[in-house]
Amino acid sequence: MIAGINQNHALQKIHGQISNQRLAFAHELSNTIAKATDIVVFEDLNLKGMQQWNGRMVGDNVMGLLPNLVRYKVKREGGIFHQIGRFEKSTGICSECGHHHKLTLKGRRFACIACKKN
Ligand SMILES: [Zn+2]
Repeated sequence: MIAGINQNHALQKIHGQISNQRLAFAHELSNTIAKATDIVVFEDLNLKGMQQWNGRMVGDNVMGLLPNLVRYKVKREGGIFHQIGRFEKSTGICSECGHHHKLTLKGRRFACIACKKN
């Protein structure tokens, strides 16, 4: 089965090349993000869940690597990096003082009851 072995080797080589391309893309993308803005907020990703519908890409762990690359590069550029939990409730929190408000589905704007800013 020489042909079979050669085909396997060729396939592994292609997978290696694709993996390298993904890594290069992750570096390029994280550079672009870090240079484009001073404040970056990432939502943490459900990698296990994503793996179910897009196994290989997530399996290469580029998606998991991206936040770390961006964090490192944003800090290197003197910016601010923040990661937020995917179930963290951020709606209705005052951006000035952090006071939590209960909002209805219709209420998208609010004046803060604590610091009076909106
Ligand atoms: Zn406030």
